[in-house]
Amino acid sequence: MADLNQDSRTLRIKRLKFLLLAAIFLALLGLLYKLKSAPKHNHETLISQPAITPQPSSTLTDSDFDRHVEQLKKKLPSNDFTIIVQPPFVVIGDESADAVKEHSERTVKWAVDKLKQEYFSKDPKEILDIWLFRDSASYEKNAVALFGEKPTTPYGYYSSAHKSLIMNISTGGGTLVHEIVHPFIEANFPACPAWFNEGLGSLYEQCGEVDGHIHGYTNWRLPGLQTSIKAGTVPSFRTLMAMDARAFYNDDKGTNYAQSRYLCYYLQQKGLLTKFYREFHAHQKVDPTGYKTLQRILGVRDMNAFKQRWERYVLNLSR
Ligand SMILES: [Zn+2]
Repeated sequence: MADLNQDSRTLRIKRLKFLLLAAIFLALLGLLYKLKSAPKHNHETLISQPAITPQPSSTLTDSDFDRHVEQLKKKLPSNDFTIIVQPPFVVIGDESADAVKEHSERTVKWAVDKLKQEYFSKDPKEILDIWLFRDSASYEKNAVALFGEKPTTPYGYYSSAHKSLIMNISTGGGTLVHEIVHPFIEANFPACPAWFNEGLGSLYEQCGEVDGHIHGYTNWRLPGLQTSIKAGTVPSFRTLMAMDARAFYNDDKGTNYAQSRYLCYYLQQKGLLTKFYREFHAHQKVDPTGYKTLQRILGVRDMNAFKQRWERYVLNLSR
């Protein structure tokens, strides 16, 4: 009996060893499969793990741009288009060659240089096209022909999916600077909430240079905001800043862009906008909406009192 017991115990131990080995083997197999099928690093993972995969400001080379331009030539809608490489963008337009060149230098290059000086260390990772259509007819016809979509705005828009800024340049360069902000936010601050992305973009719809820095001026969004302030319908900053994209874009009562813009404008006028951006970016994990960072930068605890001050300030502005 004793021997028999001994034998069955040995057998059980052997079986356990086998099961353990099989389990380890299966676990290793699973790990190998997971590693092989893991998605390539995308934007978000690169940004959120900078210590593991540091990225240079731009990895695009001249030959990347050459190849890109060759591909672009094949899909130009007509012979009226001029192509100008203006890293990290390629500008394509059907105004005169001189006009396209002027936009690419005086608007695109200028805005890119000034925005990077103030806010952004990384270029967008891929080459982005800036299509400058000379009038609304060209803009509407070519947006459908090239991208299969009818524009929902008369001015222009950024399509992340098509890696393009699609502009009706006859409406002016303001919207172009607004839209240039978006791919830079996407590359540098992918978790940026809509209020700041649109606040900063729309601040520079009307802009110039002051003491070597990009500077937003009051613009057409002001009168509507003033009317809403008088009507008492502007939400609290806590509400605005906590809005997800759907709430910001789809459920807008008409003030989200303007309220965000004139909060950025206020910070700019107090010399705090660049500082706010850097602090917000640095503390995004603990303060994803920017609300606490705003309180700290402004040095205020009572945000209702601040909103009243800000509203009086905005009511005193003029275009
Ligand atoms: Zn925008």
